[in-house]
Amino acid sequence: MNIAILSRNKSLYSTKRLVEAAEARGHTVRVLDHLKCFMDITSDKPSLHYKDEEFDPNHFDAVIPRIGASVTFYGTAVVRQFEMMNVYCVNESVAISRSRDKLRSLQLLSRRGVGIPATAFAHSPDDIHGLIREVGGAPCVIKLLEGTQGIGVVLAETRKAAESVIQAFMGLKTNILVQEFIKEAGGADIRCFVVGGKVIAAMQRQAPEGEFRSNIHRGGSAKLVRITPAERRTAVNAAKVMGLNVCGVDLLRSERGPLVMEVNSSPGLQGIEKATNKDVAGLIIDFIEKNAHPSNIKTRGKG
Ligand code: ADP
Repeated sequence: MNIAILSRNKSLYSTKRLVEAAEARGHTVRVLDHLKCFMDITSDKPSLHYKDEEFDPNHFDAVIPRIGASVTFYGTAVVRQFEMMNVYCVNESVAISRSRDKLRSLQLLSRRGVGIPATAFAHSPDDIHGLIREVGGAPCVIKLLEGTQGIGVVLAETRKAAESVIQAFMGLKTNILVQEFIKEAGGADIRCFVVGGKVIAAMQRQAPEGEFRSNIHRGGSAKLVRITPAERRTAVNAAKVMGLNVCGVDLLRSERGPLVMEVNSSPGLQGIEKATNKDVAGLIIDFIEKNAHPSNIKTRGKG
């Protein structure tokens, strides 16, 4: 097969591993920086240009999008162009956009009965007390809607602190989520790596002493974990609701069962392969080999 990986950087661990796994299985791989792609959307024959090359619709059999959060808008437009050219994309543009919007994802997950922490959403609330009460009072977690890697996630221990943080964010005219604090998770979360409706690897990330955020970028450490059947079901359901074939589902272990925090459409491979010793890249390519066919394109960019 001819496979394109949309990635801004060839030397990233995840990109390198996907190239390696595909080549080991005899496929030809191109890494395309999606920001350097340009598209002709007006012609009746959609095409895609990359630097000084033009790819016709039959050139690639499959696309693996690895779109960073900061370039979602343009990156998903490139993925959509491939879909319009009838090229199979392992994660489709609509599903990527859906999962990138934290509020939209949580609304969809909750509508389909997937467990999430009690969450309230606000832009400029008049009733800050009501908002805090809605999620069970303090302590509570306040999140910037656009944050990643744990930046913009604040634990407010008291109601007074929560009010001050909410007011400060409101002053910045930004969208926030106020969320029930899942204390019993003990600063740990579980990343389930889902490929084709199956959890193929799972790791537990633990925050360092004195920190509640378990992000590796915030000093967290990762180790292999055995997940329960309920956790497996929740992760698979969350991936299905988002419409993602490859994703990382982040869960918190709560007294009332697994709660989904986030579904990531470009999950990193380094942490999970190291913690679990699994060939995650190889399993992604195996899935693509079985499924890369235009008849498996679900949305072609439509809602
Ligand atoms: P980001 O997308 O920036 O990583 P998250 O929403 O995943 O932000 O939060 C970062 C970390 O903070 C999580 O990995 C988890 O350890 C912790 N955390 C987030 N929300 C909660 C919550 N409601 N209760 C307890 N811990 C939380």
